[in-house]
Amino acid sequence: MSKGSSTYKGVGISSGKVSGKIKFFKREGEAHEEAREIMSLEDELKRLDEAIRRAKIQINQLEKKALATLGEKEAQIFEIHGMLICDEDYVSTIKEEIENGKRCEEAVSKASEIYSNMLLSLDDEYLSARASDIQDISAHLIRILKGEKINKRQKENQPYILVANDLTPSETVQLDGSKILGFVTFGGTPSSHTAILARAMGIPALVGVGAIDESLDGEIGLLNAEKGSIVISPSQREIEEFEKEISAYNKLAKEHDMFLRSIMNKPAVTRSGHKIMIYANIGSEAEVASAISNGAEGIGLLRSEFLYLSKSYCPLEEEIFSAFRDIVIKMQGRRVIIRTLDVGADKQISYLDLPKEENPALGYRGIRVCLEERELFKSQLRAILRASAYGSISIMLPMIVSVDEIRACKAILEECKAELSRKGISYDGKIELGIMIETPASAIMSDTLAKEVDFFSVGTNDLTQYTLAVDRQNPRVAHLCEENLEPILRLIKMSAEAIHKNGGWIGVCGEMAAELSLTEKFAELKIDELSVSVPYLLGVRGKVSECK
Ligand code: PEP
Ligand code: MG
Repeated sequence: MSKGSSTYKGVGISSGKVSGKIKFFKREGEAHEEAREIMSLEDELKRLDEAIRRAKIQINQLEKKALATLGEKEAQIFEIHGMLICDEDYVSTIKEEIENGKRCEEAVSKASEIYSNMLLSLDDEYLSARASDIQDISAHLIRILKGEKINKRQKENQPYILVANDLTPSETVQLDGSKILGFVTFGGTPSSHTAILARAMGIPALVGVGAIDESLDGEIGLLNAEKGSIVISPSQREIEEFEKEISAYNKLAKEHDMFLRSIMNKPAVTRSGHKIMIYANIGSEAEVASAISNGAEGIGLLRSEFLYLSKSYCPLEEEIFSAFRDIVIKMQGRRVIIRTLDVGADKQISYLDLPKEENPALGYRGIRVCLEERELFKSQLRAILRASAYGSISIMLPMIVSVDEIRACKAILEECKAELSRKGISYDGKIELGIMIETPASAIMSDTLAKEVDFFSVGTNDLTQYTLAVDRQNPRVAHLCEENLEPILRLIKMSAEAIHKNGGWIGVCGEMAAELSLTEKFAELKIDELSVSVPYLLGVRGKVSECK
């Protein structure tokens, strides 16, 4: 190894090897945390006029570029932005805020909030949808005012290896996957949500590497997710050797992929004849096409909260409905299991204003939030029901610990059905209802819970965390999960027996479902469905056919 190179070890959470420049993740406005001195009213107003002028030019350039490279529909977005940034009401709201004593940036931010809330409250689908455009152009103006270059991150031409201290799930969903070669985080564990999202992108990734010196930003990195390491500032010889390894690896991976594709359309059946449905875990419509092209027979877990995490405002029923409807239409009759909103713990959404808690993983999250925030829950359930008229949908409830919770959810679901029926809106009256088995209580009580629902899906990420008392975010104790599989397998066995006895079916949708060393065990437990991230679909299908 050359004197200058440094090796960092972590846990590889996906397969592959890649080399490229490393780039540290910077949060918007991170470099501008200190508020500047306020200027005179006249100067603040002048700054605003100048920022609007520059934004108009930039938006116009973006419109031309979108027209040339993407198409008319995409270019229209910028045309709308160009109009909105000159909108008299919007601009005068900003000016009023400046006149009330705010700095220009704060005034834009406040005006954005006022104006977008006003649009959202209107009973007009088109105008409500403009709220996100207002937020976009406001963020654009703030970037100009803070002296940042427009779309600095997106303008990065060369794909890079992203290095981050940590990324929240909402930051991860907003990354431009096409620009990222690989992914390294200081913290995190294989079952943290950030790791799950990185894995779904199908790129080599490492978590839990510990701190990397930020002065290494821009250096070359050799990321080996197979070995769980990254070499930064390698010597020429190390680069050449690694490139050879990459081509050998890619050649093998290609051959393996060709074999798996040859079995893609064959049912996954063990040698003794047990059929397992191979489903995909997704968080957005963008993943549907690749799920289908990798042989997904259905969606086993639509993490619906990701639709909420990628927004800066609470999406309306209409928006959620059209997202679900588009997914279900694209799945062409295959089953889509929509998990109702599972926020809280590490999945924080600023606009929901959830309380800060000492132990958020044991606190106000998942179904607990939905049972209190009834309107939020009902709007989601109505959206799911409405989308069920377009294909095959099942509803799945997260974080269940008791029969009472299921019954309370069923009562709310019935209310939603009645509301839709009254309005003559169609939905699938026989929509399946299932629960996640992700708390020890739900597995222990599975004989009782099985009488209430059509199916179970085991969320091994949380089931492991709660059974072993191992924080899924903490790399320090992550090894305990691999060392203590038996308690989890016993709980799965108990749940499988209970649901089968009651005529239902059971899947596994936590990260364990993709562990090929466990496929045989799942087949033995008569698991009916395995739901995994898209890059793992073919591998799991291949493995099932090798099982006894
Ligand atoms: C799980 O807990 O295993 C699961 C699938 O849900 P999530 O990872 O989104 O918490
Ligand atoms: Mg979970």
